Amino acid sequence: TGMSKSLSRKMLLEQYLHRAIEHDELYLEYQPIIDVCSNEIIGLEALLRWMHPVLGNISPGEFIQIAEESDLILKLSNWVLFTVCRQRCYWMDQGLAPFYISINVPAQQIQQDTFIETIKRALKQYKLPAEFLKIEITERTAMTNVEKTLTTMRELQEFGVDIILDDFGIGYSSISYLVQYPFNTIKIDKSFIQDLYHNSSQKSVCRSLVAMGKNLGMNVVAEGVEVFEQYHYLCSIGCDKMQGYYFSRPISQELVESFINHIYTVKL
Ligand code: C2E
Ligand code: CA
Ligand code: CA
Repeated sequence: TGMSKSLSRKMLLEQYLHRAIEHDELYLEYQPIIDVCSNEIIGLEALLRWMHPVLGNISPGEFIQIAEESDLILKLSNWVLFTVCRQRCYWMDQGLAPFYISINVPAQQIQQDTFIETIKRALKQYKLPAEFLKIEITERTAMTNVEKTLTTMRELQEFGVDIILDDFGIGYSSISYLVQYPFNTIKIDKSFIQDLYHNSSQKSVCRSLVAMGKNLGMNVVAEGVEVFEQYHYLCSIGCDKMQGYYFSRPISQELVESFINHIYTVKL
């Protein structure tokens, strides 16, 4: 049956995922985050990829959910953290521009007692300034184990690692609750951007989200920007930071280097 089939696939994937790091099957792609006023790349989001030798590429939507059901997610998340710091250090030595890299941090990771220590160790190992690393957490993560998560976030922020609120707008949390968190940036979820042209009330929603973020003194990034019309509308409502296929898909580290060299010579 379909159900037992998906169950056995899940079990198989979980089993393979345990060895994915040792077998060198994981890698990262990076998606540029653009400041549309200066036309510069201000950051890259690191996105985890898994290439299994027989099953091929497994989507992060599928394997990260499996990993999150066990401690496996901690192993993967730490691999991402150290790989990103090593990569950023390499790019610093190459003299690439001072963009940040953001990593997606799941609830299990931010709640680990050793989380801050581990972040500091990774930065120190690669002699990276804290502002080169940012962490993205979702509303749901921010709302889990609130006291502890808040303390960790404040300490991180004080240390210089900014925190980005990911997928903003689709969670269940009240705004008055969220404002007590030290978010540096909010990322408007791509569902709002995607609907801009099918649904006119979505335009007002988007405009309000941008205005709210700005009034709270936060940076606002729109994600999932795919076409010129979306880019154009976002510009007109004062949203000046964007991420999406319109600018670039998530790309390999090699492509990042040529993209950045290109962008800095022609200025988009
Ligand atoms: P996310 O954090 O919201 O990441 C953005 C997703 O949107 C990425 O999907 C990206 O490829 C996709 N995207 C970017 N631009 C566009 C666009 O213009 N249109 C559309 N339709 N999509 C766009 P991806 O890479 O498949 O990742 C899916 C999710 O998996 C991520 O959502 C994140 O929640 C999770 N994820 C990815 N990498 C990691 C990781 O290293 N650690 C953890 N814990 N989660 C990760
Ligand atoms: Ca993200
Ligand atoms: Ca997102």
